[in-house]
Amino acid sequence: MALQKMLIYGEWVPAAAGRSISVYNPATGELVDEIPAASAEDVATAVGAAHSAFPAWAHTPAVKRAELLDRSRHSLLSRREEIARLITEECGKPLRQSHGEVNVAADFIRWYAEEGRRSYGEWIPDPLPDRRLLTIRQPIGVAAIITPWNFPAYMVARTATAALAAGCTVVIKPARQTPLTALALARAFNDGGIPPGVLNVVTGDANVIGQAFLDDQRVRKISFAGSPKVGKLLMRGAANHVKRVSLELGGHAAFIIMSDAALDRAIDGLMSAKFQNAGQTCIAPNHVYVHSSLLAPFLELLSSRVERLKVGNGLDSETDVGPLINRDALEKVSSHVNDAIDHGARLLTGGHQLTADDQAKGNFYAPTILADVTPQMRITREETFGPVIAVTAFETDDEAIERANSTQYGLAAYLYTRDISKAIRIAERLDVGMVGVNDTRIAAVEAPFGGVKLSGIGREGGREGLAAFTETKQLALRIEPA
Ligand code: ADP
Repeated sequence: MALQKMLIYGEWVPAAAGRSISVYNPATGELVDEIPAASAEDVATAVGAAHSAFPAWAHTPAVKRAELLDRSRHSLLSRREEIARLITEECGKPLRQSHGEVNVAADFIRWYAEEGRRSYGEWIPDPLPDRRLLTIRQPIGVAAIITPWNFPAYMVARTATAALAAGCTVVIKPARQTPLTALALARAFNDGGIPPGVLNVVTGDANVIGQAFLDDQRVRKISFAGSPKVGKLLMRGAANHVKRVSLELGGHAAFIIMSDAALDRAIDGLMSAKFQNAGQTCIAPNHVYVHSSLLAPFLELLSSRVERLKVGNGLDSETDVGPLINRDALEKVSSHVNDAIDHGARLLTGGHQLTADDQAKGNFYAPTILADVTPQMRITREETFGPVIAVTAFETDDEAIERANSTQYGLAAYLYTRDISKAIRIAERLDVGMVGVNDTRIAAVEAPFGGVKLSGIGREGGREGLAAFTETKQLALRIEPA
């Protein structure tokens, strides 16, 4: 029997059939907790709750919704320590990063609580003299939100709060690796006074829950972050009822260092973007393209920084890099590195699993640098999602841009140069949704986040994130002739 319960219509409930799933700590392999394994019937109950709560929530004044969201934010922040610890226990990231994640989750709630009050329509110049055209923005309806494990608090807050602020009701399905954080967030929303049925969480088997969302015509929107494989499956399934979809499907970010770049700043940016969450972020630089004139000093400086990183349990305050999420992740990272070495890449540091002492029980991989990486290697095409830096030298700007654009993905790219004109021209030519110029902190609550090509459809964050949960309705009003 699961120790945890799901939130459906304001009640904490087990799976109707009593089944459960275990959640493990990726640093120790130990059991963290048990969660309910929802059946299709449980999902239908949750969707029914969201559906029945929708009309009243949609008509609640935005300022009132904002007030309830703000109370939820306070409730979340009052449990900041406990939730940060939970994130580290189920996801593995260093506690410092988990604290930061809770703070940003709270920031998303604050942003969308306020942004919901600015969901403006328009007054449109009408071609007819005795008529006026206007638009209003209305919530889409019930939104199903499927979140990944790498940012268990951030992703739930970013998406669910935008939906709630827009007037949608939601059913959240967190990743099976990290459901406890989502349940803790749900508690904060519940304690904050979000009415029963407005926010529901179902946990368990992804195929069962995903299919139940697709089959239910009361679900009007699917918002998903995860792998392209599942994203495509959901997009295909959503076609049946023509549900709206937002998809965030990962990336393969290029990190371009031009010959005039400030090398130390580029390395600072690379270290923080690459090793956050052990490289398991969709905007992590996957491939560094460095101008050949800087290659030797770059590799030397980078190696000394990477070799100093401390890998370990995220609860240890000294830890810079935590474990990978599971054995599959470990195998994928190893296979990318081995494949690159087999095809002639130069291994400068790392390149193996860490197994000393207790580390064999977790999923630890040594921070790794590979040089002389070529297009034949898998790491050039596939998302590694691990602590591995792949490096290739380039000669001309065109060559760097062409290489950066050569993957199927198109989420983020980074560019380091002191020449602002060059930065603008290159940024405009990169096929991605986001470009960091001399900076890698591109995720902000105020700004649209999302990609092109295989990286997905739609934007989250900023005002686009709110608009993603609304439909535009046109009103044509006939008025009396003057
Ligand atoms: P990741 O590599 O991040 O685990 P997934 O796409 O497998 O990527 O998972 C992202 C989210 O999608 C998780 O919540 C996962 O449980 C969910 N998911 C996986 N398979 C399906 C599916 N068939 N239908 C709906 N959701 C799914």
